[in-house]
Amino acid sequence: MAATKKDIRALTKEQLREFFEKQGDKAFRGNQVYEWLWQKGAHSFEDMTNVSKETRQMLEDNFVINHIKVDTMQRSNDGTVKNAVRLHDGLIVESVLIPTATRTTACVSSQVGCSLDCRFCATARLKRMRNLNPDEIYDQVVAIDNESKLYFNRPLSNIVFMGMGEPLMNYNNVIKAIDKITSPEGLGMSPKRITVSTSGVPKMIKKMADDDVKFNLAVSLHSAIDEVRTTIMPFNETFPLEDLREALEYWYAKTKRKISYEYVVWKGINDTQKDIDAFVKFCKYVPCKVNIIEYNPIDDGEFQQASNEALENYISHLEKNRIVVNVRRSRGKDIDAACGQLANKS
Ligand code: SAH
Repeated sequence: MAATKKDIRALTKEQLREFFEKQGDKAFRGNQVYEWLWQKGAHSFEDMTNVSKETRQMLEDNFVINHIKVDTMQRSNDGTVKNAVRLHDGLIVESVLIPTATRTTACVSSQVGCSLDCRFCATARLKRMRNLNPDEIYDQVVAIDNESKLYFNRPLSNIVFMGMGEPLMNYNNVIKAIDKITSPEGLGMSPKRITVSTSGVPKMIKKMADDDVKFNLAVSLHSAIDEVRTTIMPFNETFPLEDLREALEYWYAKTKRKISYEYVVWKGINDTQKDIDAFVKFCKYVPCKVNIIEYNPIDDGEFQQASNEALENYISHLEKNRIVVNVRRSRGKDIDAACGQLANKS
């Protein structure tokens, strides 16, 4: 019986209103229930106290509320919180709360596992099991917003789609989730505070530009030399840098918004002057800023963080060319919550 019930949160507000009308009730009841589901975060029909008992029973007979459940929560010495989130079918994804002095950032997952094969990333080893639904993405954000209020006395300020999965391979659901996050009927957050990070799927970057999205775009570049990038991110063979460049130029022409490049420097992989020169050149195609990310080891040493000297060399060349560079220290390493470490180990 339960298996045939529909997830009520897959319905739009309009569909909920129509459902009530068909039941001979007032369409307005749909608004009330919608508010319970999305603004008040009700986990059961029982919670909907301004809805009559009969109506609640009727909803119970027709629908389920497929909420995520935070299974385990770990807190790092540096304040970072990692949630292992159980989905209605028992699968698990992870999301992370990253506090700084002035902001709280949620790092959320878009897929269970990942279909890409970046050789330095723990999530890639899980393979892609399924896409997350819009409400499963939204719920991760709500859970972290609540934790932020509880532990840091402030609401969530930023969201990055840098958890498990490739958001542009689950584009429609990511967009629906962001619509809900930014809508006044959801969390009412500004899209300017949301960043979608991609390994670089050119066709989808162009689609985003055409869709006139208002959030920020980050691209995990890691190398601006095709041969090198293909070794560490094999899908670069299918989506080479030239295609990526063209898509990014298209994005900038349409949105006029800077792109962020995520970049890790590894010993013996991309730490030579040739790598730096190629990156600086790539950075000039489209207005951008650079985030150098510290490498978080996931295995027995195939990849190693480059020397400080190599990092300094990157930074000085970028800065000489007037490119803004931030160096991002890892957060939550002690609980495997840092970039690329999300792999359901706990
Ligand atoms: N698929 C998306 C989002 C997930 S990864 C993307 O590729 O952008 C989030 C960021 O962490 C990416 O920049 C990714 O390249 C980086 N990353 C992956 N594994 C890492 C590791 N072991 N150490 C540091 N950064 C890593």
